[in-house]
Amino acid sequence: MYSEAQEKGLYADGIQLLQKSHFEIEDIQLLKEVINFADYRYYILSNSVFTDVEYDTLFKALQKLEEHYPNYVTADSPTQRVAQGISEKFQTVKHLVPMLSLDNTYNADDLKDWDRRCKELSGLDEIEYCIEPKYDGASISLIYDHNQLQRGATRGDGIMGEEITPNIKQIRSIPLRANFSEINIEQIEIRGEAIIHKDVFEQFNSQRISEGLQPLANPRNAASGTLRMLDSNEVSKRRLSAVLYHVSYYALKMGKDLPESLQTHYDTILLLHQNGFLTPINEMKKFRHIDEVIQFCHDFEARRDHLPYEVDGLVIKVNAIALQEKMGMTSHHPRWAVAFKFKARQATSQLLRVEFQVGRTGSVTPVAKINPVAIGGVMVSSVSLFNEDVVREKDLHIGDIVLVERAGDVIPYIVKALPEMRTGSESPIVFPTHCPDCGELLEKPEDEAVWRCINISCPSQVVERLTHFCSKDAMDIRGMGISNVKKFYDLGIVKDIPGLYRIDWNRVGALEGFGDKSINNLQQAIEASKAQPLHRLIFGLGIRQVGETMAKTLAQAVSEISDFYSWPLENYLPLDDVGPKVAASVFDFFALVENRTIIQSLIEAGLNTKSQKQGSEGFSGTFSGKTFLFTGTLSQLKRSEAEAIVEKLGGKIATSVSSKLNYLIVGTDAGSKLEKAKKLTTISILSEEQFLTLVNQ
Ligand SMILES: [Zn+2]
Repeated sequence: MYSEAQEKGLYADGIQLLQKSHFEIEDIQLLKEVINFADYRYYILSNSVFTDVEYDTLFKALQKLEEHYPNYVTADSPTQRVAQGISEKFQTVKHLVPMLSLDNTYNADDLKDWDRRCKELSGLDEIEYCIEPKYDGASISLIYDHNQLQRGATRGDGIMGEEITPNIKQIRSIPLRANFSEINIEQIEIRGEAIIHKDVFEQFNSQRISEGLQPLANPRNAASGTLRMLDSNEVSKRRLSAVLYHVSYYALKMGKDLPESLQTHYDTILLLHQNGFLTPINEMKKFRHIDEVIQFCHDFEARRDHLPYEVDGLVIKVNAIALQEKMGMTSHHPRWAVAFKFKARQATSQLLRVEFQVGRTGSVTPVAKINPVAIGGVMVSSVSLFNEDVVREKDLHIGDIVLVERAGDVIPYIVKALPEMRTGSESPIVFPTHCPDCGELLEKPEDEAVWRCINISCPSQVVERLTHFCSKDAMDIRGMGISNVKKFYDLGIVKDIPGLYRIDWNRVGALEGFGDKSINNLQQAIEASKAQPLHRLIFGLGIRQVGETMAKTLAQAVSEISDFYSWPLENYLPLDDVGPKVAASVFDFFALVENRTIIQSLIEAGLNTKSQKQGSEGFSGTFSGKTFLFTGTLSQLKRSEAEAIVEKLGGKIATSVSSKLNYLIVGTDAGSKLEKAKKLTTISILSEEQFLTLVNQ
């Protein structure tokens, strides 16, 4: 539809428009073109070039200008839009009622404005509002005729959608039949959102990566792409869900009255819930004051990362249907509903340069330095590119405009470059052949994606290893973060791990910024680390392939660390989750004289190197031999506390649902883990209460 040159031009125009603080009459035409282009990329290609906030800024600017200059409103303006191109793969169908989009709000003032307008329109002093999550997926519309699912469609342009009934039927959460005739409904149109749960999405992406395919950018793209796949068998493998949140149309049996359950939005959703639909009912709240709505918006935004699915905001609706009808709609938005959008988590920026950082195992990681940009309330200027393959797959160049995403606690990553925006001045990312720190020739093992510096005394690696040893999950030596470690290393105060336990404190005292108090704290933290359990020491040593869980497995397998010196390779293989790769890595580590020397020095320094099970052979805690997994949000315990209880009682924490799992403890908002566990009859599914009862027994 657009040539490459046109796309480039329109994007550049859009960026220029976004930089303006106010708009003039001569911007109207360009705004229309840029918005049409953005719509095409978003709705037709499922591949947006602008973020939601950027798009809204442009759309609102155009709306405002058209309000001022009504003569300039043309039939082809995106604000007046009826039809756009629809992918030709599916038959297009007309929605019974147009699927309007919602007006967006971004802060408390916007919501108060909306509340004021609602009251003006309705003539009421108080309105009951309903609030529910705004699911970040792909909109769908379902028609049930005489209780049967008759048709499923995408939103399309809001007037016409694509008929995707065979794919809709692959969504297991959508009932094929629902009993609407009981309340005298012959035909009903229901709206909702097809979504992919976060954990399903992660599994799906890791599968793609292992097959050498590019991971999908986010669950929303995955959901909308899946809905429009031609092969419905493929669709069924993608494990979509659908949340239904609106009844847009219904036809009653002749001579029957409107049932009570359809008189408020809340009761309508309850009705769907009772008919076996997945709905937001458990998350829905009713409020009579906008301040309560605002408070709920803020509280909900704070916990969005703990939900099992992606949410990009909340939707606030007038609860009474009669009032909704009275308030009506503009040509694009219902007046009785509004979206409250959370802070954006994607932004476009420019890739300025790439730095190469040497990690503790010598791996050389490319890190993109980008023009600083705020995403979800945090400034992002540095983004890891993981390895050379990622750079090649995403075809990144210095100077590229890139789309950056940061979701919750997840580290920011570059979703993609926008090659259509290239000007020709971009340059390829050149990987170094030698270590950027010590100059050693880099090596890349055949089966690995990363380049490594194999010089064991490479300064960057030593500093990283020391920092890892001191880190919170390892020996937890507070005050020994990377900056102090680097300072001590550069000055020769600490050269290796045993060096931490024979620091010349007089030298530290002479340094700027180290008073008696901070020295005292450091000394105490180092002293306290000597008593840490063995698994923390094993994890802290930074053996390749050994994470926290593996370190625990290893610690449980011996009486003390030196036992590993005499372990042959085959001793490792029967341990849980130990494959040949891990076994070889641990075996090699303990075979190396340098590593044994380090361990001997640590024993001499007085560190605990004995396993906790020592002296109690055949230790059997209450949970011994049992595996546990927690899912969803617990209300009485933190996840980490609950896991600590299990381990204290001799149980183990599993990483996924499998036939080896004994107990799944389910909190609120449990996702696909619960679904999976239900299919395995060997797993006991417990509530948090039941778990606590079990513990107390
Ligand atoms: Zn090096």
